[in-house]
Amino acid sequence: MGAITLKNVRKTFGETEVIPGVDLTIEDGEFVVFVGPSGCGKSTLLRLIAGLEDVTSGQILIDGRDVTGEAPARRGLAMVFQSYALYPHMSVRRNIAFPLKMAGMPQAEQEKRVARAADILNLGPYLDRRPGQLSGGQRQRVAIGRAIVREPSAFLFDEPLSNLDAALRVNMRVEISELHNNLKTTMVYVTHDQVEAMTMADKIVVLRAGRIEQVGSPLELYHKPVNQFVAGFIGSPN
Ligand code: ADP
Ligand code: MG
Repeated sequence: MGAITLKNVRKTFGETEVIPGVDLTIEDGEFVVFVGPSGCGKSTLLRLIAGLEDVTSGQILIDGRDVTGEAPARRGLAMVFQSYALYPHMSVRRNIAFPLKMAGMPQAEQEKRVARAADILNLGPYLDRRPGQLSGGQRQRVAIGRAIVREPSAFLFDEPLSNLDAALRVNMRVEISELHNNLKTTMVYVTHDQVEAMTMADKIVVLRAGRIEQVGSPLELYHKPVNQFVAGFIGSPN
């Protein structure tokens, strides 16, 4: 399960209102992409869902359960950061197992989950290496592995490919789409890259200044943009 509902979610930092009030429903199993220009509030919205920021007002529900104010670890979601968030002094195995170890999971179960994630991500041969001995794409797969082992009800990605080169970005885009096809777990994916949004999403949420301009499938947005902003944003790669 991994349905996420935002009810009139508002966020201010001091005097600045970054999210004026967002209503959004993400269905279980959907691949939803938040897209919009830099500074429009994509990361903030994702961090509110993750519980890394507290909402100023409004509610967040996961599978109908109100998790507003609940600690990130209790929400059953996994955030995938850029690959440089790996621990350089730990092996791939220990990097992937790290959240399970923190949660106090028995060693045998940890190993089982790490093996399964390594299998899904083709990381088996690299488990004893350190992040510094891996390619950029492999490092990003380790970052994803660390999320998979937690068996989350949803994955939250914040521009996971932005520090990879163009060719690798295309590969990883395909890999993440395949992962979604295999796991069928809800994925919320933040990007400012229109191509990623158009090719990966079941549903795109276009944001401008913390407000939702339009929600729809890539085709709906492409053929029936509600305004010039959406048309310009979907139409012209930057
Ligand atoms: P995006 O991810 O779309 O680039 P962000 O969610 O990071 O945008 O930021 C949205 C706005 O909120 C920006 O104007 C940013 O400066 C502001 N902001 C984000 N986090 C903080 C914070 N912790 N304190 C103050 N302002 C913040
Ligand atoms: Mg951001």
